[in-house]
Amino acid sequence: MSRKKQTTSFLSLLLLLIAAFSYFFPQYQQTHNPSHALADGSFRVVRVVDGDTIVIDYNGTQEKVRLIGVDTPESVHSDASKNTPYGKIASDYTKKQLTGKTVELEFDVQERDKYGRLLAYVYLDGKMYNKTLLEEGHAKVATFPPNVKYVEEFQQIEKQAQIAQVGMWEGYVLKTDGAILANKNSQKYHLADCQGAKKISERNRVWFDTETEATAQGYSPCSICLP
Ligand SMILES: [Zn+2]
Repeated sequence: MSRKKQTTSFLSLLLLLIAAFSYFFPQYQQTHNPSHALADGSFRVVRVVDGDTIVIDYNGTQEKVRLIGVDTPESVHSDASKNTPYGKIASDYTKKQLTGKTVELEFDVQERDKYGRLLAYVYLDGKMYNKTLLEEGHAKVATFPPNVKYVEEFQQIEKQAQIAQVGMWEGYVLKTDGAILANKNSQKYHLADCQGAKKISERNRVWFDTETEATAQGYSPCSICLP
């Protein structure tokens, strides 16, 4: 075998090995991505302060944990005028879901806030509870820079909850600067300036920023304005 041929076959073998490795270990990069790492251990929820704040047994000491990326309406604010009926609903929901349960934590950039509270994504049975709050319409998205790892995903979930009008979004009309206006009744979407769009009654209107979002929600295009 010539030297050149040897080099070529060595390179082919190397490429084959790399390809085989990625094929058999597709999760390799993910498991080594620290952004999805959970903190060591699991922790018992001692009590729930309100919808987005809990107290856990953190290796023998009781520590407050603020769920990041979300904000539930106030329920135990020292200024009573800031407490809302919905705050009580969200608080009761978290009490029911988390009290006495064992949870896992994921931190973002900062492990604690200026009050010394832990800042975390809280997992119950492997599911992130911060997302559950958004899905159920019990919380709004709140950005906690620099702890914004999931902000885009959270915004999507919040929007779905608004469209579905669940929890605090009951009766909510989603308004965006979007270019797409859909009809809940006919399940068609239009460009906002289409005559067909203008005829949609107020209660059947759903706005989207893009056609992709409308399609994802099961709407189909108007045959006049979006040929
Ligand atoms: Zn149209």
